[in-house]
Amino acid sequence: RTVLGIETSCDDTGAAVVDEVGNILGEALHSQTARHNQTGGIIPNVAKELHTQKVESVVQDALNSAKMRLEDVDAIAVTVKPGLIMSLRVGLVHAQKLAHLTRHQLIPIHHMEAHALTARMIERVEFPFMVLLASGGHCLLAIAKGIDDFLLLGTSQDTAPGEAYDKVTARELNLIKMPEFEHLSGGASVELMAKQGDHTIFPRVHVMTSRADCDFSFTGLKISARRQILAEYQRLGLDQNQLLPNTSDICAWFQYNVMYHIGRRLQRAFIFTEMKELLGTSKTLVVSGGVASNAFIRLNLEHICSMYGYKLVCPPQKLCTDNGIMIAWNGMEKILSGTNYLQDADSLQVVARSQFGSDISKEVK
Ligand code: ATP
Ligand code: FE
Repeated sequence: RTVLGIETSCDDTGAAVVDEVGNILGEALHSQTARHNQTGGIIPNVAKELHTQKVESVVQDALNSAKMRLEDVDAIAVTVKPGLIMSLRVGLVHAQKLAHLTRHQLIPIHHMEAHALTARMIERVEFPFMVLLASGGHCLLAIAKGIDDFLLLGTSQDTAPGEAYDKVTARELNLIKMPEFEHLSGGASVELMAKQGDHTIFPRVHVMTSRADCDFSFTGLKISARRQILAEYQRLGLDQNQLLPNTSDICAWFQYNVMYHIGRRLQRAFIFTEMKELLGTSKTLVVSGGVASNAFIRLNLEHICSMYGYKLVCPPQKLCTDNGIMIAWNGMEKILSGTNYLQDADSLQVVARSQFGSDISKEVK
């Protein structure tokens, strides 16, 4: 059996065909990053327009690379939530069109659930496991108990880490204007710059130090980064369009703080999970989302996991950021579960914000 997956929730138009053992039969991805870098951030109307231009050819490219026709796939999975409404709608409308052409039913997909289960396509990860998703719109910790059964331990109370990377550090340091970073997300360019940097350039930012739960907060760091960057421009008497000479150090400092905060909250989650016996004897942490594709953050997560006896599973980088493969795979997992997730194409709607699993974060102390 095979599933075609379609993803348009944010700024990547993705499509892929996967089979039931997780082989990627065909895939295509069109990233809008270069275009959004020109304007310093995603403008929903522009994202919608680019999805509209590309969705048909991306789906066709995925089918072509799988050497399949639309009629050959068993079902179509499409992201319906959460995300930018205008972007989501383009994918859903296209999927509905394809469903009418072929009489396929559709499988509606929750984008974050798809991020969470991608690891199961790569290797055998049995439920229950812990999952950390750090991305452009979210930061959350959960226990995955089943394909659509999650216990939410904690979530960002304000900004998402990817947003802090993109909107403050990469933008205010002018990285997104640099030709060598033209096609890279803010996060990826900060990671590259941070490699040669010294993270001790500024003091560490203390976040949620008196809170024993597993929630996250990135607004404090965001404001701090903005203030430090501005102060550096003033101190060095540089115009804000120029590149600071200590850009690498600032990137390293910022990234160190993101890592430190995520690591601290993860330790809380490990302790709580142990206390409540939420996981069995085989303790696994799955990480995904764009920020979790960061090698520095992964290395440190690896270290924390080994301290607590957890096995860390990270999908390869290209499966951590948005793609059609994870959507197709999530559809496949739903088919394989035996429960009927297929829906009449016309009945589906897109949703901007959506709860992830059942929230037990108030019990986490
Ligand atoms: P969400 O999944 O929360 O709806 P999204 O789909 O926009 O948001 P992803 O595609 O999963 O997010 O991730 C994109 C985000 O990840 C961007 O904010 C980007 O800057 C960040 N990112 C990508 N690569 C890296 C990296 N190497 N280091 C840090 N951040 C990164
Ligand atoms: Fe995503």
